[in-house]
Amino acid sequence: MGFYNEHDEIVMAHAAGLLPPAQALVIETQAALREDVRRELKDCEAIAAALMEDCAPADLSADLRARVMDQLDLPAEEPVAPPSGCDHRLPEPLRGVVGKDLDSLPWRWVMPGLRDCVLPLGAAKSPPGNGGTMRLMWVRAGTRVPAHSHRGLEMTLVLQGAYRDATGIYGAGDLQLADERVDHGPEARAGADCLCLVVTEGPVRLTGRFGRLFDRIVRY
Ligand code: ZN
Repeated sequence: MGFYNEHDEIVMAHAAGLLPPAQALVIETQAALREDVRRELKDCEAIAAALMEDCAPADLSADLRARVMDQLDLPAEEPVAPPSGCDHRLPEPLRGVVGKDLDSLPWRWVMPGLRDCVLPLGAAKSPPGNGGTMRLMWVRAGTRVPAHSHRGLEMTLVLQGAYRDATGIYGAGDLQLADERVDHGPEARAGADCLCLVVTEGPVRLTGRFGRLFDRIVRY
């Protein structure tokens, strides 16, 4: 599994076909949301094509889509109502891969103001045993996610709304890359709920004063 600290590195890795499908989908969705990322990706693809004449960039295959849709039909452990207060239509190409919109996905309650929906794509394509996941996360306006650090790379693409942590403010179309060196407690900005696509290589590690307690009661 490659490690990418900078945004341009991970875009280049995607252009070169090196990213697993969950991470590739994050970059493709960000490119759909932002013109500057589209341009960057196009440039990187041109470079990658020149470097590897016979290697086409990774694509989200029909087989992959079929597997994701199959698994999404599994019932949730504890189904909860889909989040309100945000647009229920997912952006492409995420929507095409998931095949559903927010209101028909199996949401889980995590804690007040925080729900998530695990998309099996990430876990299915991660190396065995490392616990990587791909999920949608909904955070109510003004709610703070428990402070945590990471095991491996965490990619967080903001689809709607905005959040902030100690490193900055992330709005729709922004992608934050974090790893074990980052300890943060993202807070959804007031006024609008925040919806993110989150791909992790390993389970997050809850930190902060109540980290160990949260570890037991929060499935995060
Ligand atoms: Zn994080």
